[in-house]
Amino acid sequence: MTTAPFPAGTILGYPRIGRRRELKRAVEAHWAGKIDETELERQAAAVRRATRERLAALGLGRTDSAIPESFSYYDQVLDAAVAVGALPERFADLRDADGTIGLPAYFTAARGEGERAPLEMTKWFDTNYHYLVPEIGPETTFALSTDRFARQVAEARADGVTVRPVIVGPVTLLALAKPTDAAPEGFDPLTRLDDLLPVYVELLASLRAAGAQWVQLDEPALVSESLPASPAALAAAAATAYRVLGDEADRPAIVVAAGYAQLSAEAWTALAASPVEAIAIDLHRGAQPPAVDGLAAKTLVGGVIDGRNIWRGDLDAAWGRLDALRTLGAAAVAAGTSTSLQHVPHDVDDEPHLDPHLASWLAFADEKVGQVVTLATGLDGGRDAIGVELDAASAALADRRSAPGVRDGAVRARAAALTPADYRRGSADEREAVQRETLGLPVLPTTTIGSFPQTGDIRRARARHASGEGTAAEYEEFLRDEIRRVVRLQEDLDLDVLVHGEAERNDMVQYFAEHLDGFAVTVNGWVQSYGSRATRPSILWGDVSRPAPITVGWSTFAQSLTGKHVKGMLTGPVTILAWSFVRDDQPLGETADQVALALRDEIADLEAAGIRIVQVDEPALRELLPLTQAQQPAYLDWSVGSFRLATAAAAPGTQVHTHLCYSEFAVVIDAIAALDADVTSIEAARSRGEVIADIRTSGFSRGIGPGVYDIHSPRVPSVDEIAGLLQRAVDELPLGQVWVNPDCGLKTRGYDETVASLRNLVAATRAIREQL
Ligand code: GLN
Ligand code: ZN
Repeated sequence: MTTAPFPAGTILGYPRIGRRRELKRAVEAHWAGKIDETELERQAAAVRRATRERLAALGLGRTDSAIPESFSYYDQVLDAAVAVGALPERFADLRDADGTIGLPAYFTAARGEGERAPLEMTKWFDTNYHYLVPEIGPETTFALSTDRFARQVAEARADGVTVRPVIVGPVTLLALAKPTDAAPEGFDPLTRLDDLLPVYVELLASLRAAGAQWVQLDEPALVSESLPASPAALAAAAATAYRVLGDEADRPAIVVAAGYAQLSAEAWTALAASPVEAIAIDLHRGAQPPAVDGLAAKTLVGGVIDGRNIWRGDLDAAWGRLDALRTLGAAAVAAGTSTSLQHVPHDVDDEPHLDPHLASWLAFADEKVGQVVTLATGLDGGRDAIGVELDAASAALADRRSAPGVRDGAVRARAAALTPADYRRGSADEREAVQRETLGLPVLPTTTIGSFPQTGDIRRARARHASGEGTAAEYEEFLRDEIRRVVRLQEDLDLDVLVHGEAERNDMVQYFAEHLDGFAVTVNGWVQSYGSRATRPSILWGDVSRPAPITVGWSTFAQSLTGKHVKGMLTGPVTILAWSFVRDDQPLGETADQVALALRDEIADLEAAGIRIVQVDEPALRELLPLTQAQQPAYLDWSVGSFRLATAAAAPGTQVHTHLCYSEFAVVIDAIAALDADVTSIEAARSRGEVIADIRTSGFSRGIGPGVYDIHSPRVPSVDEIAGLLQRAVDELPLGQVWVNPDCGLKTRGYDETVASLRNLVAATRAIREQL
């Protein structure tokens, strides 16, 4: 056991995709067979080295474990599952002869291959990051199955850096797992804790042997009230886990990191009583915990710098919270971030096009490292030692408060005049009757979720346009060609409700952000979404309004090409907020209503232009749900309210669709029903239609399209497979309610697999219709 002190300032993790998404390119080149495993490992090592050097240059110590090693090829939960050998049986043959799980098994578990389904993917707590869901059953054999973590420690040491490896802890790993197919009904993976811990013991010993002085075990499950296991059960598991791991002599010092929200009172008490050396808590979302027994021998890492948003914020207040932490009687207090910085882009200095005012209000990962270093200096030398930095941050904050555009009188007046009636549509049954009459749709209508594959051509054309090459007219004509192609394809496939394909959008938010006042967009502000995928969240900094129609031109052009209905395609207010970095100076609900009013105007313009079906996507509704139950009703109130404000002015004959990207339907069923959409499409294929039972028992009575094609994988579902899922929906739900669609948009897929899959989707629908 080492007794090296915990560093005075650190971050809980750093973006791992590389400043220019180097890791994405390397991994995708490897998947495409362009570079071999050795070359991939070499490029990944270069990304890790660049990160360490950058963090050292920003002021984190090279030898005091201040630099975290939070690299991942795909996902940190998969990394932990792989390290302890917890991959389900269907990947067993991909292991090396000695049982080691190498990259082939790792990537196959992440992505699937042929008939071999990947691990399910779902959102990481209330963020837009997706992790892979481990599958653990009574039959899972835990065994240390890779030395990757230890190798990374050794690699850093060879460069003269003592890193602090970051690994998902045993409680969170089990709490996020789902039972394997082989497990009996009601099996709880957490019951495997005692079998899992010896492998963590071995893992920690291997890190120690490689030279780690500290290890960070991430246990965000301990802040959540939204997991199957109760906070009390999770705290009890943590008490066991950290007694066992802590009592072991041959290990690095342990910091348990519980970011993302307030650590539960039970878990706080349990961790304080355990023999771990440090606890990192979220003091951005969470309040200061009470004094408890056991702190005198521990370091408390105060996560006062927000790891999930990009505002420079009130550094003086952060200092105050950190300083207050010293009253709890811990052996030491250190400055930290509230979560890993994997949720924010690298560097504000990489954004030369941002307005300098706005830029001065921001802190991305690198600037946040600077803030942590500043606070650490203050812990050592007192407030006076950092007075200049605190004052500069306060001045930026004052500038932000009074800057033009942050408050817009017209927007505020309109919001202030809203009444409850503005949030209500007419009777849903009457709407259904009018729409049945006027839209002329067949039983089991087929449709897609909006986007079609984004080919290299589309990406290049958009990039050329973004960099100012070519004329606006050329770009417009390119997009029209694309729409012509996509509409023709959908007619050939004989889909019932068509879309324009969204070729003008790189993601769901940026296009809207570019066309709304109050937003800014970045050039290099990439944030990992899942695996090799990254998004570039926009920055919502001021009052939002719509200077001109946004999507009407594309939708009406598509409609002009076909006799079938074209769905207008909008992103809902909650999702626009969730996938942007949002101003933190007013309640989210106020900001959401501003966005909703802009969308309301857009829907009115779509209707006026003859569009009869409008989809307002809200895939993020579930994701923003607060982890703490007490905060959930208020959240659902404003989030559902903003959707309704956006859609309530639609005429009864206009069919309002919404789309949600997940299958935990039961959790938010009341909210989904309260959205009062006419048709809702959700993800279901990846969980093999499990959600259909939830829909039935919930009594949800509007149109519903449980996805029948998993678009997260290149796999083409067969006609039989789709027909099976559809049959299940038709058996369990009223026929008139069921729609047929993929799980989500098709933009990340290639054309070959998309066309083949949609062909099968239509064929399966016909087959089921014929049997009716
Ligand atoms: N309309 C969007 C698309 O098809 C929806 C995507 C999503 O829900 N993530 O791409
Ligand atoms: Zn989706």
